[in-house]
Formats: sequence, structure tokens, C-alpha cells
Amino acid sequence: METDRIERRELFHSGKANNVYFTNHPEYLELESSDRISAGNGAKTGVIVGKGVANNIISSAIFNKLEEKGVQTHYVGPGSNEASKIVKKATPILLEVIGRFKAAGSYVKRYDVPDMMPFDPVYIEYTYKSDAAGDPLIGNDAIIANGILTRRELGYVEYVTERVAHVIKDFFAECNADLVDFKIEFGRLPNGQIIVIDEISPDTCRILDKKTGKSLDKDRFRKDMGEVAETYSEVAQMVLKLKGPGNTTN
Ligand code: 5GP
Repeated sequence: METDRIERRELFHSGKANNVYFTNHPEYLELESSDRISAGNGAKTGVIVGKGVANNIISSAIFNKLEEKGVQTHYVGPGSNEASKIVKKATPILLEVIGRFKAAGSYVKRYDVPDMMPFDPVYIEYTYKSDAAGDPLIGNDAIIANGILTRRELGYVEYVTERVAHVIKDFFAECNADLVDFKIEFGRLPNGQIIVIDEISPDTCRILDKKTGKSLDKDRFRKDMGEVAETYSEVAQMVLKLKGPGNTTN
């Protein structure tokens, strides 16, 4: 969609990693990926110069790919700078939807299973987005009982997440990276339609270099592995080398 005539207006919201601005279009916002980084629900914070631009390149390419594959998302088009995109205004659904191709992170900690134990099909779980409650895992029945989604909507979210999982896995495979797990978020448009929102980037996915096994995501920051900025920019460069409409970022 043409976004040339969309102009950024005042700041609407500043989150842990993103800034959201109003625009001159009542149905659109501008989502800017920032250089801010945090882990452990804000327990550890920092600034990674260039991360916002790298994440926007990667996230825009993934959202383009999702749209190309028929997944409904908030993505509209490029924003006013290299770190931003125009998105549809949607009411966030208070869930983080996590898809796992292999066991890692909190899953390994919770169940004491071997790191990288594979899942087939992709394993999907939910956390409730609430700083006060500490983003706990939430089961299907509680999602429905708490009025977050109806059973039918939950089935739809699960179906879309499975599709998204394979689109992201194939996308990173083209960048010679293996997708271990990811987190996505959903929102509701004024007409009730549920769409994929937020960002999909190395901040929200675990990805490993296929050849070397090197971590190419936020684990570099979480685990003090170093070369965070260099790694995000390396992934963005790989994305820019991809051919096809999925590489359109700005
Ligand atoms: P884990 O549950 O192992 O910590 O995370 C699983 C996957 O979801 C990882 O790719 C991780 O980056 C992503 N993820 C889980 N929770 C969050 C969150 O609160 N913020 C972000 N950015 N990613 C998350």
C-alpha cells in the first residue's frame, strides 16, 4: 500500500523496545523499532546502536512475507525513517503466543528437558501479558475464562500461529539460520478481525547460524555473549540480500 502521504504525528506510546506514533490517518500508526533492549521483564536493560534499523529491516521483510502468504497482519508499508513502519491501529490481545520448534530458554528451565529437543508439530504456548502478574504461562481454559479470547478465536489464533511458524522458519532458512522458537502477538481491528501485530525480529525469535550454531538473537544480550549490534546487523544484511517482494523495507 502507498504510504507516501502518511505523516507521523505525536508520540502515542513508548514501550520497552518500540515507540508508537499517531499519524495523519486515523486508522494507522507508525511503529518505530528503537535501540533499547531489555530482558527478564525489564530487569536488564541497555542500548544497542543500530538495533532499531536492523530489526525494522528484518521485521518488515517478515511481515511482507506473511502478507504474501495470506496471513493478515498490521503491516501497511514503510515509515518515515529506516527504523519505522506504518501499521494498522489494532487493540492488542493480552497474550504472548510462543511457538517452539526446539526446546530452549524457559521451556528447558521449566521441564528440565535437553536443550534443543525437537518438537513436531511446532509446540505452542501462551503467556498472559501483565506486568503485575509477571507474564505467567496461561492455559487455554484460563484464556477463555478470563475473557481474553473465545474458544473459536483461540482455535483461529493457534491455526494462524502454526502458519506464521512455518513462514518464519522458511524465511530464516533462506538466511542460513535455524529458527528455534519465537513469540508473536495478536490484535483486533475495529471490525473484530484478529491480525498479527508487533514486531518479529531477533528480539522476539531464537535463531542459530545453520553452519556454526552461533546465536543470532537477543540471547547474545541476555547471556552477555557480546557482539550484539554486529550480529543484528549481520542478520539484517542477510535479509537485504534476499530476493523477491519480501525484501521491500523502505
Ligand atoms: P522463552 O519462553 O524461552 O524465554 O522465550 C521463547 C521465545 O519467545 C524466545 O524466542 C523469546 O525471544 C520470545 N519471547 C518470550 N517472551 C518474550 C518477551 O516478553 N519479549 C520478547 N521480545 N520476546 C519474548
